[in-house]
Amino acid sequence: MKTYKIAAIPADGIGPEVIAAGLQALEALERRDGSFKLEVEHFDWGSDYYKKHGVMMPEDGRDQLKPFDAIFFGAVGAPDVPDHITLWGLRLPICQGFDQYANVRPTKILPGITSPLAGVGPGDLDWVIVRENSEGEYAGNGGRTHRGMPEEVGTEVAIFTRVGVTRIMRYAFKLAQSRPRKLLTVVTKSNAQRFGMVMWDEIAAEVAQEFPDVTWDKMLVDAMTVRMTLKPKSLDTIVATNLHADILSDLAGALAGSLGVAPTANIDPERRYPSMFEPIHGSAFDITGKGIANPVATFWTAAQMLEHLGEAKAAARLMEAVEKVTAEGIITPDIGGTATTQQVTDAVCEAIRMSNI
Ligand code: NAD
Ligand code: MN
Repeated sequence: MKTYKIAAIPADGIGPEVIAAGLQALEALERRDGSFKLEVEHFDWGSDYYKKHGVMMPEDGRDQLKPFDAIFFGAVGAPDVPDHITLWGLRLPICQGFDQYANVRPTKILPGITSPLAGVGPGDLDWVIVRENSEGEYAGNGGRTHRGMPEEVGTEVAIFTRVGVTRIMRYAFKLAQSRPRKLLTVVTKSNAQRFGMVMWDEIAAEVAQEFPDVTWDKMLVDAMTVRMTLKPKSLDTIVATNLHADILSDLAGALAGSLGVAPTANIDPERRYPSMFEPIHGSAFDITGKGIANPVATFWTAAQMLEHLGEAKAAARLMEAVEKVTAEGIITPDIGGTATTQQVTDAVCEAIRMSNI
């Protein structure tokens, strides 16, 4: 029997609520499949840890995580700790330190969930957004001079490297190739941004030659928002920069019904380090402790984790169970239902028990 070591970092707000739900579904899958085992270790890092120790995680945090097969992450953010501390103190050091350069964000309209787009239902919108997760405007390169003076200047320099762009492009083409439609859209802003963005276009054309069976096209990011909204069916796999994909994937989440169902995987495709799986949403302190956090995004990212570990069948079983439950209308208030986190979780666990895949 295969055993996988999972590091669970529930962290802040609703993080512990949705991670607990996700672990219950994973345990149900373990029992149903009987072919793999998950050894889960919990880490109490996050804002409470910060208030006690002055850091979000211990100095050797990454060394502690290195031996794990995957990281299952909740969310960071607390009302009384500045956001840049929670983000740069825990989530980003893991992403960057483990070179998780591919951020993979699947989006589709699950049965029983309504898109704000009129006439668009399940099957009309089925995308995967690949976000470059290590460069661009988020590389931390910039500065400010003449603070507070009329001549103050602030810069946020977007860094793109040939190595960085080539590896994310290759990842995206490969992913597009593995999906039935074999369709990739490369997003840039190369009409206005003549350097890094034109390099993206050139590298896309080079990498495309390695994938003759993938149909691909280019879009400018502004026009892309229009295409996502008006012609969702014309898209399948999408690759974009760190900043552009950050924005496009929030739009994608909204078009698919809610951020509460949107998952994300931070992947080191070379598998030198553990990859990290999390819901896209934050700690949602407005609903913390109320028992109504939507666990669907966390179930979906658990499915991404299983797939990454090589347990594709269990991943499919989990998504089938989730779709059965949303189709039945067992959904939380954020997407128009009345069910609690635990009721949705129990229904998903039951669907896993009954599943025949
Ligand atoms: P948020 O995603 O926490 O919440 C936005 C809105 O969506 C809230 O009304 C919330 O109740 C709702 N929501 C989010 N997830 C939900 C779920 N699973 N079920 C039901 N409703 C859900 O974003 P925010 O309010 O902008 O940020 C709150 C904190 O989270 C901040 O400190 C922010 O920095 C942090 N944050 C962290 C991450 C992360 O850890 N990856 C991501 C985004 C925001
Ligand atoms: Mn974002």
